[in-house]
Amino acid sequence: MGTTGVATSSAGLEDGLGAEQASWARVCGKFKHEFGEHAFKTWLSQLGYNGVDAGTVELSAPTKFVRDWIQRHYAPRIQDYFAAEDPRIKNLSIRLSARREMQRPENMGLPVQQMDNAHVAAASSVVEGGALDPKYTFDSFVVGKSNELAYAAAKRIAETNDVTFNPLFLHGGVGLGKTHLMHAIAWEVRKSQPGKKVAYVSAEKFMFEFIAALRFKDTHVFKQKFRNVDLLMVDDVQFIANKDSTQEEFFHTFNALVDNRCQVVITADRSPTDLEGIEDRIISRLGWGLVADIHPTDYELRLGILQSKAETAVDVDVPAEVLEFLARRITSNVRELEGALNRVLAYATLVGRPITMDMTRDVLQDLIRANDRKLTIDEIQRAVADYFNLRLSEMLSQRRSRSIARPRQMAMYLAKQLTPRSLPEIGRRFGGRDHTTVMHAVRKIEDLRRDDSQLDEDITRLTRLLEA
Ligand code: ADP
Ligand code: MG
Repeated sequence: MGTTGVATSSAGLEDGLGAEQASWARVCGKFKHEFGEHAFKTWLSQLGYNGVDAGTVELSAPTKFVRDWIQRHYAPRIQDYFAAEDPRIKNLSIRLSARREMQRPENMGLPVQQMDNAHVAAASSVVEGGALDPKYTFDSFVVGKSNELAYAAAKRIAETNDVTFNPLFLHGGVGLGKTHLMHAIAWEVRKSQPGKKVAYVSAEKFMFEFIAALRFKDTHVFKQKFRNVDLLMVDDVQFIANKDSTQEEFFHTFNALVDNRCQVVITADRSPTDLEGIEDRIISRLGWGLVADIHPTDYELRLGILQSKAETAVDVDVPAEVLEFLARRITSNVRELEGALNRVLAYATLVGRPITMDMTRDVLQDLIRANDRKLTIDEIQRAVADYFNLRLSEMLSQRRSRSIARPRQMAMYLAKQLTPRSLPEIGRRFGGRDHTTVMHAVRKIEDLRRDDSQLDEDITRLTRLLEA
């Protein structure tokens, strides 16, 4: 140690380089010792060692992200290790590698260069990793306030070549159209940019394939497959939480693609920061692009979706009041909403009768009840108190001033309309009131809705808020 000759030019002599490689290997060893195997594999092993020039160690990183990260988090320590090898070393420089020139100690890291070559060669339009549903297109996607950002971002990606935000991270609860939008992107790209190579895969499939590749020692093919694309879409990434090696591979793939300015689209059922069991560095990078939240649907959107689906149902006429009823009552998500409509359509076709309200209620009893159960009196009380800027305790109190009593009556009315609770039950939950008080409140609000348009609007708004 310490005898390593510092080559004054990176094109140094054979044995000079050999000795340098040995000191690089020792630096790697120290890094591993201090930061652990994991950090080593993720970061340092990605670097190429290019020798020492005039007191400066020259390293190269495959991607800007890796370079910046190491610069920010590890550079001073790495420099210390080198200085311990040779005190003349005063600086550390990490450049972006001119890929093929990288020198890397044996046995380290991922075949980044191969990936880049493959990427250049890719030209045919192939959608891998799962069949695309022909129904999931932009045309069949109904846009409303809750999903307009997600829709616009997806559209932008499908239609243009510039990478303006990367990744696009779409998140929202189940059945709100995330998968639909991804398929729509794939269809659109196929149509308008047929040269582009697109991969769509569920995170689950990504994981299983990766595990299979590990088992059959075939990770090279796996890496090629997913890194060899212009647009990678990974659906439901919450599935790879807590799956260490898959996460790692996903992250490398993701970095490699983003650094090559390939578009990545990701969905999850929650926001990047709410993904548990996924490392912070992944989460922070996931949030670098555009994070678009798909909110629960509101009444208008639900009705719009139903109308658009009903239009495509040939031979069967769905009365407007049935669509409105469904939009009001099936609030959980779009998948369930569609399911409800399909059930009514199927039933009507089977029995050969026109669709009516009675039939709808009958056929959907269980669904409607399941959707109703979700709303509790407590939620209603809170929402109404919030809406009128009251404290919950005030609303449940015995105070009778109009500014409190009216909202209280509205909350009772909503509890009666939106939950299956009986009048006595509702009374009990409102500070132990009698069922006749509740009945009076319900009637009063019913009357007022007819005459007082402001109040009517408040009720409509609150209903929407609660059903969303
Ligand atoms: P997610 O992936 O978010 O769980 P999906 O994309 O699978 O949800 O959507 C569930 C169902 O709802 C699909 O049949 C989809 O076509 C439909 N859907 C969701 N949002 C919309 C929308 N805005 N317009 C039309 N259909 C929608
Ligand atoms: Mg989905």
